[in-house]
Amino acid sequence: MNKLAERDQAVLWHPFTQMQTAPLPIPIVRGSGSILYDADGREYIDMISSWWVNLHGHAHPHIAKRVSEQLQTLEHVIFAGFTHQPAVELAERLLAILPRNQSKIFYSDNGSTAVEVALKMAFQYWHNLGKPRQKIIAFENAYHGDTFGAMAVSGRSAFTAPFVPFLFDVDYLPVPLPGQEDDVLQRAEALFTDEVAAFIVEPLVQGSGGMVMYEPAILDKLVQLARRKGSLIIADEVMTGFGRTGRLFASHYLEGKPDLMCLSKGLTGGTMALGVTSCVQAIYDAFLSDDKFKTLFHGHSFTANPLACTAALASMDLLLLAETQANIQRISQNHTDFASRLATYKTVENIRQHGTLLAFDLNVGEQTSYFNNIRDTAYNFLLERGVLMRPLGNVLYLMPPYCTTDEQLAYTHKQIEELLTTI
Ligand SMILES: *Cc1c(COP(=O)(O)O)cnc(C)c1O
Repeated sequence: MNKLAERDQAVLWHPFTQMQTAPLPIPIVRGSGSILYDADGREYIDMISSWWVNLHGHAHPHIAKRVSEQLQTLEHVIFAGFTHQPAVELAERLLAILPRNQSKIFYSDNGSTAVEVALKMAFQYWHNLGKPRQKIIAFENAYHGDTFGAMAVSGRSAFTAPFVPFLFDVDYLPVPLPGQEDDVLQRAEALFTDEVAAFIVEPLVQGSGGMVMYEPAILDKLVQLARRKGSLIIADEVMTGFGRTGRLFASHYLEGKPDLMCLSKGLTGGTMALGVTSCVQAIYDAFLSDDKFKTLFHGHSFTANPLACTAALASMDLLLLAETQANIQRISQNHTDFASRLATYKTVENIRQHGTLLAFDLNVGEQTSYFNNIRDTAYNFLLERGVLMRPLGNVLYLMPPYCTTDEQLAYTHKQIEELLTTI
């Protein structure tokens, strides 16, 4: 096994990894259901859905079959001037489950590009109307991706520090945590003006920012405020989409629906890279013109890749099964039960849950930061016991694929509880 890891080290550079101090990567040879198998035959329960993408387990036979059939039929075709069945069918089926006001689908390659496209649509919408607006409002601590536009609308942090001079300015609202809603509303009253092109949010859960959670009611109030000034609302559901919060989309908990939505991660069930930006009719209409300059000049070589669209269709078949919906409810209830056990530990703080997402802070008296040691301690402790979790600093969270069994959850809980009595 070390052979492959050493070959890796000679030629590869891994994401979000300090290559000087990182241990050798673990070669994974196979996956099935919620389990990953390494080259030595060790098993890991994938409690983080392989960076939040996997919905139905690894190497799912239905997705594998559909994608391999598509691969032998049409692997790719240019998507300007041409179209194909998987792209059309996926758009139709997405629009059927997204909030009703969404009416057009634009494909790209990943979550960051889905955000880039939403931002470009928003800015150009105002440009095309001849009423340019240049301000974006975002939440502090937000994460919307790693490309420049996506970084610009993310919170400023260690991740963005080297690039700050190159990021466009954004006005930030504090996250409306429970108990702080009124303060945030007051700040928002001042910030939302008719210069604001768009308000971008991760609805209900800020993922990379530490699984920070807030309630739909306050988001609804903020959406209302933004709307009063005509601003567009962008819901970045790259992480929250496809059932994670208990409903198909976090936006389904809101009264006020977004104008633009960004999807990726679970979109293909975690099989391949694909991004979607959806929008309401009025945005689409603002680009219709005899004037070529009003075109949305954006596209990627692999826009609407038929294999990725097919994976997404196959994943949606599975997602909408009564059995999968029941699993989402089962995991949510299982989390709620575990949360009440967690509450008895002095080393646990700030337990929070939306649907299949459960998070809590480890309180070990250290300063809370993404870079503190407790993160590595917890990661290694759990990994050695066959549980793949990837704490965000001192924040531990569970985001299992929906096929994860009660036994696998119980095993995970046992390891977490041992960690809690050890630290
Ligand atoms: C992961 C994530 C992104 C970026 O998606 P990538 O596919 O990694 O580029 C954007 N927004 C949110 C909310 C995310 O969680």
